[in-house]
Amino acid sequence: MSDTWQLCTSCGSEIPESDPHPRCPRCRGLLEVRHRPPAQGGAALRATFDARWGVRQGVLASGVWRYREAVLPSAPPQDVLCYPEGNTPLLTSPAVARWAGPTGLLLKHEGHNPTGSFKDRGMTVGVTQARRIGARAVACASTGNTAAALAAYAALGGLPALVLVPKGHVALGKLAQALAYGARTLLVRGNFDQCLELADQASDRLGVYLLNSVNPFRLEGQKTIVLELLQQLAWQPPDWIVVPAGNLGNTAAFGKALAEACEWGLIDRVPRLAAVQAEGAAPFALSFREGFARRHRVEPHTVATAIQIGNPVSYDRAVRAVRDTKGVVIAVTDDEILEAKAVVDGAGIGCEPASAAAIAGTRRLGRDGVIKAGERVVAILTGHVLKDPASVTYYHMERDPAPPHANRPVEIDPHLDDVERAMKR
Ligand SMILES: *Cc1c(COP(=O)(O)O)cnc(C)c1O
Ligand SMILES: [Zn+2]
Repeated sequence: MSDTWQLCTSCGSEIPESDPHPRCPRCRGLLEVRHRPPAQGGAALRATFDARWGVRQGVLASGVWRYREAVLPSAPPQDVLCYPEGNTPLLTSPAVARWAGPTGLLLKHEGHNPTGSFKDRGMTVGVTQARRIGARAVACASTGNTAAALAAYAALGGLPALVLVPKGHVALGKLAQALAYGARTLLVRGNFDQCLELADQASDRLGVYLLNSVNPFRLEGQKTIVLELLQQLAWQPPDWIVVPAGNLGNTAAFGKALAEACEWGLIDRVPRLAAVQAEGAAPFALSFREGFARRHRVEPHTVATAIQIGNPVSYDRAVRAVRDTKGVVIAVTDDEILEAKAVVDGAGIGCEPASAAAIAGTRRLGRDGVIKAGERVVAILTGHVLKDPASVTYYHMERDPAPPHANRPVEIDPHLDDVERAMKR
């Protein structure tokens, strides 16, 4: 067996790293990428990562491939397809912290990736792997951001891409990206969960490499959100990491990243994970309240389209992540999400609605006494404000009555007096 392999988390089968099946070929269970622990762990591995911090060119300048020992150590640099991505900022904002509660709140802004969401971190690994195994084309189902990332990386690597999105439920910026980057784009008259099933079947029949979040290589890339934020904090873990949760790929990837970081001696204490869903799409929060006694499936409805998912595919992996980190799962309302978004946007930072769920969730957990005063919290802003321009114009221009943070534009005639009057208001 080489240093990296795939493990079925249902039946325990081990299959080679290069196997192209999206699920376990024996039982269709979810696969997980496993690495033999790097020869050097602890301080030596931290030093390796730290030495690459200032690299400006080539694969190691990527905020994903900087951690290549933890991502896909067998991929030679010349095979890696990257922009580079990652290297996203850890921001402070007194205004957001005041609204949300924790004084030292930090915002890890994944909207600063090449296509504007954290999906790039998974896709650089996924499309690299697709090319390594000789895939002729790549495909995914998506609520938008996965499609945008897949389309971009496939174009960068010269591979045809097929994306399936639920018609009418994809934010404009994301749909525009899929089209612009040249992916064959199918508007499916159905919901996301149906798109996912269809993509799964299509990959079987058409022999294209499936890059949904069932794909375990994408999760290896997404782990680097956690590794990078730990490194930005000089390897001193925060008390909490708060993340929006839809299909649960990130929740699962974060759990795996933290488990490995601990096992490999990068950190000596595991932060608690808080996964935040939208109330209208909260099957995972429902299960959490019952001690994960059973899995739920709901008909999802929320303004936060990126987390509008009723049957999350990475459920089992995410349960483990929450258990391993003494984590919590909560749901917040669409109104809380939109208010949080207005606060983040108004602070000059900006994010898409799903990302704001992390901020709304942070506030709720503080008020419920779960996050205690003085605890260090990192919230993940998963996507860029421009992903969903319609949600911004709707909030500020159309909602009636005007919501608390509405910034109504003022229409005027072309007279200086009108400008002056508008300024004074
Ligand atoms: C994909 C996505 C999510 C949800 O992440 P999961 O891994 O599916 O739970 C949240 N926010 C944004 C912006 C996304 O693109
Ligand atoms: Zn299996």
